[in-house]
Amino acid sequence: MNSIIDLHCHSTASDGSLAPAAVVERAAERGVKVLAITDHDTVAGYDEALAAAKHAGIKLIAGIELSCVWGGVTIHIVGLNFDPKSEVMQNVERTQTIAREQRALLIAERVGKRLKQTIDLAEVQTYADGGALGRPHFARYMVDKGWVSSMNEAFNKYLGAGKPGDVKASWPELAEVVGWITAAGGEAVMAHAHLYKMTRTKLKACLQDFIDAGGKGLEVAYGQMDANQRGQMTSLAKDMNLHGSCGSDFHGPNRFGIDLGVMPDFPKDIPPIWSAWTEVAV
Ligand code: MN
Ligand code: MN
Ligand code: MN
Repeated sequence: MNSIIDLHCHSTASDGSLAPAAVVERAAERGVKVLAITDHDTVAGYDEALAAAKHAGIKLIAGIELSCVWGGVTIHIVGLNFDPKSEVMQNVERTQTIAREQRALLIAERVGKRLKQTIDLAEVQTYADGGALGRPHFARYMVDKGWVSSMNEAFNKYLGAGKPGDVKASWPELAEVVGWITAAGGEAVMAHAHLYKMTRTKLKACLQDFIDAGGKGLEVAYGQMDANQRGQMTSLAKDMNLHGSCGSDFHGPNRFGIDLGVMPDFPKDIPPIWSAWTEVAV
């Protein structure tokens, strides 16, 4: 189904393949009326998207997708309808970049020690194409350096589970990032909770902490979600009195077969996260 509201997608400001203005134009062409671009850990695309949205005649909502941890699990929180010029949001990108680099630094240090080599992070970064450094980038770098003969060997000896490079992300805690969004005047939504591989009991405990921190919404209609997952998220939202949010998680044409506005129907009995947004009359 095509929805006229899409509150989760990405541009080249993070890992999407279309520039912010191009995302807006594509959304407008596809009949989307209300759009939030939720780039990972940055609002850098907002100004360009806003200019394009005015031109295309669609309503742009400030958005971001923040990485955090809860009980050792990496969770994504979508922030919506906040002030992108607020100090807290202007600082988010730097804070999150430090968190991301912390992990890469630790991997480089620990794996380098084991290899008895110096890992040059700037060189490893060239493997990530401007994106976040992950273990596969280290593995490819190690192969090219001739320190291991294959990616498999890199993982089996140095990067895989229980090896020196098995470093957990140093993202901030869930409650902290929810607090940032609220402080910036916005609403926090838990993104794609059907993908976290938690039991319902654990997910409910996680959502309770989210609510206690000020979290307001749960994605109940998402690009890649089957009827069963939609049912589970809808019943969770109901049980926990959460508002529903919806988004495609579009990253670019021909990526994961997802397009702007494409997602299951929004469940009728869940209050939408935009119900309190006076400027969104839908
Ligand atoms: Mn992404
Ligand atoms: Mn995500
Ligand atoms: Mn996303």
